[in-house]
Amino acid sequence: MQIYMYPLGALQTNSYVVCNDATKEALIIDVGANPERILACIEGYEVKAILLTHAHFDHIAGLNEVRSSTGAPVYIHGSEQEWLSNPQLNGSSRWPTVTSSIVCTPAEQELADGQVLELAGLSIQVLYTPGHSPGGVSFLIDEHLFCGDTLFAQSIGRTDLPGGNYEQLMASIESKLAGLPEGTICYPGHGPKTTIGSEKRSNPFLSGIMK
Ligand SMILES: [Zn+2]
Ligand SMILES: [Zn+2]
Repeated sequence: MQIYMYPLGALQTNSYVVCNDATKEALIIDVGANPERILACIEGYEVKAILLTHAHFDHIAGLNEVRSSTGAPVYIHGSEQEWLSNPQLNGSSRWPTVTSSIVCTPAEQELADGQVLELAGLSIQVLYTPGHSPGGVSFLIDEHLFCGDTLFAQSIGRTDLPGGNYEQLMASIESKLAGLPEGTICYPGHGPKTTIGSEKRSNPFLSGIMK
């Protein structure tokens, strides 16, 4: 399995391509704006799914383009299904200087907590991690955790946007992420990758729940 990271768009939103070289199949996790590098990366691979950690505009800005060129089904948690087609909800109408209005058709599949997806020859565990947004999910593939805007290296997701909830975010991190093996590699929605162990030791936002 190969993991490629592409920070895309005005907010440098990390989009990930997970390639299974044995089967020549791939997954895409979140799709930032101007996704040409994603499309170049997946040449020669069959994209089996586009997985969304949540539906803030910066994570779906390139979705229409990647969806139409791959034909891959989109997966999102049910509580943000509506956000895909609603620029108010996905935030794209709130920051007209940063983004154009984003409208996507509904996702083909809705995700549920604890679900295990078998796609591209990989097992993907769905962890429901709301708080940054109501439908936030993280995806665990072996020891690789794609955690969206829930947890960052040395920080956590903001909770001041519509539907955000600080207590819920902290509960998600504590109950779903903190118990993972320390060597679990975290691939966040923004910024560099990190590990669960490193964040438990030194992320200042986690000091209250990790002691
Ligand atoms: Zn977000
Ligand atoms: Zn984001």
